[in-house]
Amino acid sequence: MDLPNALIDQLRATFGDAFVTDEAERLVYGYDNSRREALPDAVVFPTAHDQVVALVRACRAHKVPLTARGRGTNTTGASVPIAGGIVVSFERMNRVLAIDPANRLAVVEPGVLNADLQIALRSHALFWPPDPTSAPYCTIGGNLACNAGGPRAVKYGATRDNVLALRAVAGSGEEFRCGKPTTKGAAGYDLTRLLIGSEGTLAIVTEATLKLTPLPPAMRTMRASYADVESAAAAVARIMAQPATPCALEFLDGEALRLARTHGGDAIPNAGAMLLIEADGDEGTLDVAIAAISHAARGEGLIELTVAANAEEVTRLWAARKALSPALRTLSPKKINEDVVVPVSRIPELVSAMRDLSTRHALPIVCFGHAGNGNIHVNLLPRDDAELARADACLDEVFDVVIRLDGTLSGEHGIGLAKRDFMPRALDAGALALMQRIKDTFDPDGILNPGKLLPDRISP
Ligand SMILES: Cc1cc2nc3c(=O)[nH]c(=O)nc-3n(C[C@H](O)[C@H](O)[C@H](O)COP(=O)(O)OP(=O)(O)OC[C@H]3O[C@@H](n4cnc5c(N)ncnc54)[C@H](O)[C@@H]3O)c2cc1C
Repeated sequence: MDLPNALIDQLRATFGDAFVTDEAERLVYGYDNSRREALPDAVVFPTAHDQVVALVRACRAHKVPLTARGRGTNTTGASVPIAGGIVVSFERMNRVLAIDPANRLAVVEPGVLNADLQIALRSHALFWPPDPTSAPYCTIGGNLACNAGGPRAVKYGATRDNVLALRAVAGSGEEFRCGKPTTKGAAGYDLTRLLIGSEGTLAIVTEATLKLTPLPPAMRTMRASYADVESAAAAVARIMAQPATPCALEFLDGEALRLARTHGGDAIPNAGAMLLIEADGDEGTLDVAIAAISHAARGEGLIELTVAANAEEVTRLWAARKALSPALRTLSPKKINEDVVVPVSRIPELVSAMRDLSTRHALPIVCFGHAGNGNIHVNLLPRDDAELARADACLDEVFDVVIRLDGTLSGEHGIGLAKRDFMPRALDAGALALMQRIKDTFDPDGILNPGKLLPDRISP
C-alpha cells in the first residue's frame, strides 16, 4: 500500500531518523521465525510512550495497519505485517526502569530482552519466571503478547501469571494503565491478563510491571527412563499429585530419544520414554523434595532413575534434550513444530494418536515437551516434497485429536497466522463472538496486527 503523504509527514516530524522507508531496511522487519514474510511500508523505532500514542493515533486517522515487533522470534507469523503498513520495532525501548526488591517487582520497557532482565535481577537474588529457550533473543513485549513460557511454568506459571501491571495504547488511540504494583487487586475487569496473549491485536504495550520471585538457592536434576509412554505419563500424574512441585518436568517420547541418540550418542537412554525432572529450593529441604519426587517417579515400567551428583552429570542428563533440536533440524529442515496442550492425564492418548497419524500419513512425528503442563511439542518431520504435501492434512488431524482430548491449540507459542483458521474448532462460538467484540472495542478500525489470532469474520 502507499502510505498517505500526510501520515509520512506526521511520522517524520515525530520520529525523525527513527522513521525508515528504505527497502533494504524494511526487509529485515518483514519476517519472523515462522519463515513467512511480507514487506512493511515503513518501520518506526520509538523511544518513549508518547511517541507510541502519536503513532497509533496517526495510523488510526489514516486507517493504516500497525504491527508491533519485538525480535521476530515467534513461530506463528504473529509479527509478519501481512497487510503492509507500519512496523513498530521496540528495539530502542529497552530500558529496565526500576528493580524494587521490597515489592518484588521490576518495571521495564517492552524491548528489554528476557535474558538481559534475568542478568540485571541476579544481583538482587531475584528472577522473572518465564524462561523461553529463546530468552537471549526475545523481548519482554513479545513474551507478554504471546504469553510465553518454558520448563519453569510447571512451578512458577507462564507470563500471564507473572505480570502485575501494564501501560498501553489501544488501537482506538486511547492510552491507559491497567493493574497495580501490588500482588492483590480486586477493582474491576482484569485488563492486564486480557492483554497478555493478545498478540498485539488489542493494544501496544509500552511498559510492564513484572512480578519477581526470589532465586532458589539450590537445584537438583534427575532423569527417569521408562519402557513406554504410558508408564512415563503415569509417573507424571503421580509426581503432580504429591506436594513437592518440580520446577521442570520435561518429557521425550521413544522416537525423540531414538533421534537424539543419533546426535548425542550412547549417553542417551534407549527407552520408550524419558522424563527430565528438576526441583529447586533450600539445600535443607531439597533432599526431602527429591526423595518425594523420586518415590513418585518409581513405578511400573521404570527402567532407570538417576539423580545428578554434580554439574557435569546435570549436563549429561540434559544431553538428550539438547541433542534433539539439531537432530530434528538435520532430519527435516522444514519441520512443523506445534505446541499443543492436553490435560496431563491424557498425554498417553495424545502420543498414541500421534503414532497412528504418523503411520497413516507415512510421516515421522516426534513428541516431547513440558509434561507437567500437558504442553507437548508435536513435531511433524517432512523429509521431502511428498511428505511435506501430506503434512498439511496430518496437521489438521493433529488439532482434531487435541480438541477431542479437551486440549487446545497452543500452550506458549500463540496463534498468529498459523493457527487462526483452527480457532472456530478450538473455541465455542459464543466465546469467539465475544473475543471479536473485544477486538472491536479496543481497535474499532482493525489497524492493530490485522489478520492475526482471530479467524476472518463470518458474515451473518
Ligand atoms: C529457538 C527458539 C526457541 C523458542 N522457545 C520458546 C519457548 O521455550 N517458549 C515460548 O513460549 N516461546 C518460545 N519461542 C517463541 C518466541 O521466542 C516467543 O514467542 C517470544 O515471546 C517472542 O518474542 P519476540 O520479542 O521475538 O516477539 P515477536 O516475535 O517480534 O512478536 C511476537 C508477538 O508479539 C507482539 N508484540 C511484540 N511487542 C509488542 C508490544 N510492545 N506490544 C504489543 N504486542 C507486541 C507482536 O506483534 C507479535 O504478535 C522460541 C523461539 C525460538 C526461535
